[in-house]
Amino acid sequence: MRLISVNSGKVRTQTIDGAQVQTAYVKSRIPTPWGIAESGIIGNEIAAHTDHLYAFDHASYSYWANRLEMDRSAWADGFFAENLTLETLDAAALRVGDRLTLGESTLVVAGPRVPCWKLSWRMGLPKTFIRDFRLSGHSGVYLGVIEPGAVAEGDELQLVQSDPGSPTVLELALLCDPDGEISDLEAEVVQRALACESLSQTVRMMLTLKQANVARVRGQNNAAWRGWKEFVVDDPVQESAGVHSFAFRSADGEELAAFEAGQHVAVQLHTPDESAFVRTWSLSEYSASPSRYRITVRARPDSRGVPALLDAAYGRVPSGDPDCCGGWYQSADGDGARSRESRCERAAAVVVLRFSRKRRCAVPC
Ligand SMILES: Cc1cc2nc3c(=O)[nH]c(=O)nc-3n(C[C@H](O)[C@H](O)[C@H](O)COP(=O)(O)OP(=O)(O)OC[C@H]3O[C@@H](n4cnc5c(N)ncnc54)[C@H](O)[C@@H]3O)c2cc1C
Repeated sequence: MRLISVNSGKVRTQTIDGAQVQTAYVKSRIPTPWGIAESGIIGNEIAAHTDHLYAFDHASYSYWANRLEMDRSAWADGFFAENLTLETLDAAALRVGDRLTLGESTLVVAGPRVPCWKLSWRMGLPKTFIRDFRLSGHSGVYLGVIEPGAVAEGDELQLVQSDPGSPTVLELALLCDPDGEISDLEAEVVQRALACESLSQTVRMMLTLKQANVARVRGQNNAAWRGWKEFVVDDPVQESAGVHSFAFRSADGEELAAFEAGQHVAVQLHTPDESAFVRTWSLSEYSASPSRYRITVRARPDSRGVPALLDAAYGRVPSGDPDCCGGWYQSADGDGARSRESRCERAAAVVVLRFSRKRRCAVPC
């Protein structure tokens, strides 16, 4: 595991899939002397990543050139966006939490690389390549910095401390896929990895997602449901002009499925003439064991959704009773600025709600 090159990148605007993206993805060898600081390579800029260092090796360069039948000579050190290019890296031997020395620095293994879509852009390959790369066991290694220090070409990455109970980088690379069933043994590997303090945040996200998906598929998350479920709209709060938050509480009082902020719910609402319509809103708070789901909605001109939510929260204004519920239908700006005190006794209208797990990019890109 000999050091060949130290590479850095500057944050630049790149056009990727027609969009302007700020990224330091394009890296090249930097002039010596080389140094590792607490946050990574001295001189390197980071646009999004939380991992300190990414190490990749010449053996994997050759592996990918052969597998993809691409020209190895077109790839200079740093092409895979690695900070450290080594001669070899043994993913089957390195374990999460292993301490290593490199020159004057001390590093810790944080897990396998989980690339984002910029890799396929850099390689000129379809996005399906990202999954192939991630699960290949030839994706390189994330490292954390324990002791900063100078490094030089030819320095050996040397193992100084290892916990045989920790999962290997290879084991985790093969599990870094949010979909798909896993054995009990593999589930236990995921558990052990998540217990490692030094585990990369990126890998942690991926494994947590896998764990949640597996639990759902196995029916272990009893609070999950299929189809529509009834909820009571509660706690309306006017956040600012035209922006309202609402909470949804389970109408049957049962436990709710856990969620991540940023997931969305499909909400079936009713107009005063009782015709049903559906709107989609993102969740705007996070709790591992939620007692409610909360959304925050901007009222559009002629919005149907916001009045229906206010109706559900405060109770519908009966025809001929314009003062009921603070006079929503009389508000000059149509913004529904009603106070909690004006809540109608006949409130607690019910909406039905479908909880969708929006597929999101799990990797900070
Ligand atoms: C996955 C997902 C998550 C979403 N999360 C949120 C969220 O967290 N908060 C939120 O406020 N919205 C969110 N939306 C948008 C939301 O689904 C509704 O489209 C929006 O709230 C408008 O619904 P409405 O019933 O108030 O207006 P409508 O009755 O649908 O439309 C009323 C008028 O507003 C116009 N209009 C509708 N939507 C928009 C828009 N986006 N921009 C400009 N004009 C519009 C319509 O053309 C129409 O003239 C999300 C959408 C998706 C797909």
